[in-house]
Amino acid sequence: MADIKNTSLFFLGTLLMFLTTIKAQKIEIPKGWVEITTDKHQILLHIKYATKDNFTSTRLYPCGRCFLREEVAKALLEVQHALQQKGYGLLLYDCYRPLTIQYKMWNIRPDPHYVANPAKGSMHNRGQAVDLTIVDSEGCPLDMGTPYDFFGKKAHWAYSALPAPIQNHRQMLLRIMKKYGFHPIRTEWWHFSIKHLDNSHLYSWEWDCK
Ligand SMILES: [Zn+2]
Repeated sequence: MADIKNTSLFFLGTLLMFLTTIKAQKIEIPKGWVEITTDKHQILLHIKYATKDNFTSTRLYPCGRCFLREEVAKALLEVQHALQQKGYGLLLYDCYRPLTIQYKMWNIRPDPHYVANPAKGSMHNRGQAVDLTIVDSEGCPLDMGTPYDFFGKKAHWAYSALPAPIQNHRQMLLRIMKKYGFHPIRTEWWHFSIKHLDNSHLYSWEWDCK
């Protein structure tokens, strides 16, 4: 009887250790990554995939947090600092996106025009991309002509049939992001990435919610 009890306790203990390990793995922020927060960096966050207000109409993240590889975070903080000198700041819509979420997105919308195929992965899965805009001193986003994740020509950099103030806002964003090493993509005014890093790895670690 004592043996059975001991064996049960042993299995229970092992199970608890296993569950603790899983939990710990989920919480831990890997080495070489940085979290961007409003408290620490005065950068505003509106992580759209933590809400249903995104093109999938599905809440994909359990909560909105922003993690980036440290070189990317460093460049982003330089952008924020430069904008602050002029009375502006950044608002982030998306940062690192676990590969598991990329698969979910792809299942909802398996169209490479809108979503990176998870087999290849997005720069977001590498912690090297950010989706963002500029806000004024009141925290209001500047008018960029379309909302975030507007999939159409009007969101392209080459789209020129926009009023002058909107073109100026876009150019301001483009100029400052390029100055600190970010590259745009042709079809989304909000998406920028840092390319000169090892991008061979797609990451799947998921953050915990505080
Ligand atoms: Zn993006």
